Amino acid sequence: MPIPSTLEPFFQCLLKNDIKIYRKKATILQINVGFLCNQVCRHCHLNAGPNRTEVMNYETAEAVIAYAKRCYFEVIDITGGAPEMNPNINMLIEKLAPLTSKLIFRSNLTALNDGKKDELIHLLKYHHTAIVASFPSLNDSQTDSQRGHNVFQKSIETLRKLNEIGYGQANTGLELSLVSNPSGAFLPPSQEKTGKRFHDLLKQKQGIVFNDFFSFANVPLGRFRNWLIESENYEDYMRTLASSFNPEAVQGLMCRTLVSISWDGYLYDCDFNQAENIYIGGRKVHVSEMQGCPEEGTAIAVGNHCYTCTAGSGFT
Ligand code: SF4
Repeated sequence: MPIPSTLEPFFQCLLKNDIKIYRKKATILQINVGFLCNQVCRHCHLNAGPNRTEVMNYETAEAVIAYAKRCYFEVIDITGGAPEMNPNINMLIEKLAPLTSKLIFRSNLTALNDGKKDELIHLLKYHHTAIVASFPSLNDSQTDSQRGHNVFQKSIETLRKLNEIGYGQANTGLELSLVSNPSGAFLPPSQEKTGKRFHDLLKQKQGIVFNDFFSFANVPLGRFRNWLIESENYEDYMRTLASSFNPEAVQGLMCRTLVSISWDGYLYDCDFNQAENIYIGGRKVHVSEMQGCPEEGTAIAVGNHCYTCTAGSGFT
């Protein structure tokens, strides 16, 4: 990924700070089941959308399940695109849930709200799957401008439906977390303060409750990078990320304990590296060839987009 000539590449910044990013014990398996999505969000690092054909097929899904049987992961995290649109999603949930302590399902909320996902919602609840939902803003026009027409209202409807069946409610064990990202080329405000505002206002105005709140910076890849370039924000945004480099953030980087698998079964250090076709540790490996977890101590393959994860309090 190109970087403004005035900025040093990420790997050089690490060298200058005498920092090496290497793997710790792998505890999280993140499975990207495909780039097919019902939305075309402006910040999407994967360029996901309704016309994408990259969808995990049955054979690859079975190979991923076999890997999760060979190698125990404390957390298995299903993401996309919109995982709801993968034809094998129910099978994946049923077969992966018994193999881990925590199964996570990432949803954009609207894909769960097309009137045809009741069986999936029932399965998620039955297996106590934690739902991590994208909900960028409390402002409807801001959300719709970033994610598409009527997305805010549809998301509210889905959150209400999930609350009704116990998600986000106290003492149900059905976790519902919200993820917010900025609507433009700037870093997110304090996660703690924003989280409190989301809790208070969603309760007051919409009667909606949820558990955790996370806010992340937009990664300058895919559709977001294209928007940055078209709007002539790219250089400034890269400068903002690089000048916010925080060596302390390296400790908690998600890539150090995470294995990311793509729709066609290849391994990566994270979903962002997947978007950049940077294979795990720089080596192309298919899940069917992988016997165990990646070795502790192996180097993580980095790129200039990694400045996003080390900016401010980082991306954990
Ligand atoms: S983008 Fe870079 S720093 Fe962030 S998780 Fe991926 S490999 Fe690690």
